[in-house]
Amino acid sequence: MEPDVDVVVVGGALGGLSSAMFLARRGVRVLLVERHGSTSIYPKAAGQNPRTMELLRIGGVADEVMAATDIRGRQGDFTIKVAETVGGRTLHTFAESFEELVGATEDCTPMPWALASQDRVEPILLAQAEKHGADIRFGTEMTDFAQDDDGVTVRLRTVADGAETTVRARYLVAADGPRSEIRERLGIPRHGHGSLAHFVGIIFEADLSAVLPPGSTGWYYLQNPAFTGTFGPTDRPDRHTFYVQYDPARGERPEDYPPERCEELIRLAVGAPDLRPVLLDVQAWEMAAYIADRWRDGRILLVGDAAKVTPPTGGMGGNTAVGDGFDVAWKLAAVVAGEAGEGLLDSYGLERAQVARLVVDESLSIYGERMAPHLADSLPRARGMAEVLMGFRYRSGAVVAEDDDPEPVEDPLRPTGRPGFRAPHAWVERDGARVSTIELYGDGWVLIAGPEGKAWGEAAAGAARDLGVRLDVHVLGAGLRDPDGELTRRYGLGPAGATLVRPDGVVAWRSAGAAPDPGAAFRAALATVLSRVPAEAAHG
Ligand SMILES: Cc1cc2nc3c(=O)[nH]c(=O)nc-3n(C[C@H](O)[C@H](O)[C@H](O)COP(=O)(O)OP(=O)(O)OC[C@H]3O[C@@H](n4cnc5c(N)ncnc54)[C@H](O)[C@@H]3O)c2cc1C
Repeated sequence: MEPDVDVVVVGGALGGLSSAMFLARRGVRVLLVERHGSTSIYPKAAGQNPRTMELLRIGGVADEVMAATDIRGRQGDFTIKVAETVGGRTLHTFAESFEELVGATEDCTPMPWALASQDRVEPILLAQAEKHGADIRFGTEMTDFAQDDDGVTVRLRTVADGAETTVRARYLVAADGPRSEIRERLGIPRHGHGSLAHFVGIIFEADLSAVLPPGSTGWYYLQNPAFTGTFGPTDRPDRHTFYVQYDPARGERPEDYPPERCEELIRLAVGAPDLRPVLLDVQAWEMAAYIADRWRDGRILLVGDAAKVTPPTGGMGGNTAVGDGFDVAWKLAAVVAGEAGEGLLDSYGLERAQVARLVVDESLSIYGERMAPHLADSLPRARGMAEVLMGFRYRSGAVVAEDDDPEPVEDPLRPTGRPGFRAPHAWVERDGARVSTIELYGDGWVLIAGPEGKAWGEAAAGAARDLGVRLDVHVLGAGLRDPDGELTRRYGLGPAGATLVRPDGVVAWRSAGAAPDPGAAFRAALATVLSRVPAEAAHG
């Protein structure tokens, strides 16, 4: 049966919408179905780290996401505390400013942090996906799927009237959240720490200007004699989130939190006995840490919380869902366009699970520090956000590794330019304008050769033409200049060397100097990282 679309995405939250947006931008025919009638109304993932912003820049939405960062954009006022009540007695302060919390990243990337909430970001991703031609259907659920050698048959039902249709796709992206039905039906187990704590999450509106210092934003871990919980702002000044912990082992249940009790707990939490909060939503939620054992089953790929769940401490779950969406999209697009062999899809799970492990461990260590000091000794040690977000290392068939150094990260402030690491940020001049190297990446592959590396440039252009791959070539000194030697230093690039950067801004391959037959050497490298068969590599 001929496919109706290239890719069906199930789930229209951060993971699914970013997959659809990045796929559509690359010209892939994509249909996304989401059971709910709209994007999320919950603020949940309330921040975009600079790596996510690098990816959103490629998606063409970084400026819009930054603009959606209203009050929380005042990063200098960001505090993280353990306290008895919001604005009351402080028991411990973790950070007084945003920079203190996350460390300085401006030497690693020109992209800033943004602090927009999930309910603001999802509509931006949605609009951009639709602008690029994605077919997005809310109020539509996937009820069944079956894959065979040529594609996936997906059964859909319209929630409003129960009408059923069948769609045929080449691939299926499962972005259907932590309880992923697709993952479960494929029988893919998960491993990890498991359940950590249970909460009743309350979103409410109230004017707290009398409690919070003007302009201040922050996250409070509340240790109150009456409850344990967290309190955080959203990017709307009068809207707040409050999570109260309950313990099922002691017979406590979400039903024990009717509206009157929630309102009373809010008054206690903010220390304002006369406050009249307006409850917007009350939902039970389990904090947990899991990673799927496999992220790909044939033509089906797991994305976002379907593939891994991390505690929100550190705010990385939604960010990695966007990262997964980017990764699955460029790889699927390359396979659908015939640029890459199917083997490239194996690198998806290998690489993203490496990031998931770093993120889950970091989130667990922050959880131990801020919420469960009694468990801290049994939880992983913190590496620091910068290493996890910007210093991660990929090992897979889509990278030609130079060494077998087992360290999963490097210090992004002292980058080495080795294959598998994020291609470092360096200020360079392109056609006379000062740009970051980060701005060179995103749409296709990029070769940067040293000033004596003209032979690499020619070899790369020829191989890319033969293999039908989009590749931009820069030989330093021509259109692209490295006036301060920053690029050369950070990329470990010799005068006659070259480095190949993937569409996700990760170094795929590097040659320290010249090669006797640069054509053959480059063609072999490109064919390897694209999982092209050797014959194709040899004959083009
Ligand atoms: C309280 C809380 C605070 C958080 N804070 C942060 C933070 O500060 N920073 C951060 O980065 N992350 C944070 N996160 C995590 C972040 O919200 C999630 O990682 C993110 O929502 C995952 O997105 P997703 O698209 O993978 O899955 P989900 O958001 O779970 O979305 C899955 C979607 O799939 C749909 N679906 C499921 N099955 C079907 C079907 N059969 N057919 C059609 N549709 C279907 C669902 O309706 C749902 O909309 C937080 C999470 C919580 C709960």
